[in-house]
This record gives sequence, structure tokens and C-alpha cells, in this order.
Amino acid sequence: MKELNFLNDLVDCFEKLPGVGRKTATRYAYYVIENYSLEEVKNTCSIIVDTVKNIHKCPNCGMYTSEDICEICEDSTRNQQQLMVVKDPKDLITIEKSGQYDGLYHVLGGLISGYNGLQFNENNLDLLEQKVKNNNIDEVILALPLTPNGEVTSRFIEKILSKYNVKISRIGYGLPAGSDLEYADEMTIRRALEYRISTKE
Ligand SMILES: [Zn+2]
Repeated sequence: MKELNFLNDLVDCFEKLPGVGRKTATRYAYYVIENYSLEEVKNTCSIIVDTVKNIHKCPNCGMYTSEDICEICEDSTRNQQQLMVVKDPKDLITIEKSGQYDGLYHVLGGLISGYNGLQFNENNLDLLEQKVKNNNIDEVILALPLTPNGEVTSRFIEKILSKYNVKISRIGYGLPAGSDLEYADEMTIRRALEYRISTKE
């Protein structure tokens, strides 16, 4: 029998999403043609287009925002002396949701890989150094994943910042080794922050 390929383009679109294989993508495609009105499809597509068009990275911290500067950087009531380094926006959201931190952030956008070197824009490290050098930062908290690449990255940052008069600490307590922050629950994040280990005074 000849393969029916009338849905292939749509299945290809869904298959690009993380965790979605060909089978699930096909199920989604059938769901859309069977359950969505043309109006709903247009609406969903225009939301995707508008979101992608309007959201960009905050030039100051690297978090996503639709404004010039994100609301965290704009918020002067936050502790301006603490700077937390996280891997990506998802980790920032995990920490924010825990409600246990009210300082500023620096989103790296990736980690340093033991095999492939830098997996994010090098300027991001320069920007971090400039912030520590020029702003009134008392403490840099490294909240990177407890994975080999997270470890390499934390050490590298500690080295870069070691010449500045700033306290450097790492969160880690209670977080499962080898895992990403985004899977940690609120209580674990709270403990990890509370019992953060100072690596340099
Ligand atoms: Zn920002």
C-alpha cells in the first residue's frame, strides 16, 4: 500500500518538539485536524508568532522578557548585592518559584563542556566579570547543575572571580547529583540555598 502522507508536514512540525517522537507527533496532528476549528488554529499560530517576535533576552541578565530590561533587573527592591549564576532561564524560574531568593541573576545560557569547551556566548562571562568588578556585589551564588559540566563551569567562574573581593558560594545541599535544577522541588531549593557552601570569602 502506498504511504499516505497528507499529514507529513504537520507531523514533522510536532516531531521537532522535545520528547515527541514520530508516533506522538502523528497523534497530535490527527488531534488538531479532528478537534480544532480553523479559527482556533489561526489563533494558536498567531500566539506563537507574537511570542517569538516579542520575547528576547534581557541584555542585563539573560532572562527572557518582552521589555527592554526584564522585571527582575528593573526591581530596585531586590537585593542588589547578591548575584546568582544559573545555567538557563528555566533554572531561574525554578529558583524564583521557590520564593527563597530576592537578589539578581546572571543567566549563562549554557555550560562549559569538558569535551567541547564553551557551549555559550563567551561575552556572557565577560559581562559577569564586569558586573562583579563594577557593581556593588557582595556575594556570587553559583547555582549550576550538579553534573560534570556544571562542576567544570563553577570552577572556571570561581577562578575568574577569585581576584575580586567578593564572596563566592555554591548551592548543592540536598540536590540530587547529576541532575538539573529544574527538577528540584521548592523545599529542596530552599535547603540548597540556606545551606549554600562558601568557596571563597
Ligand atoms: Zn534582566
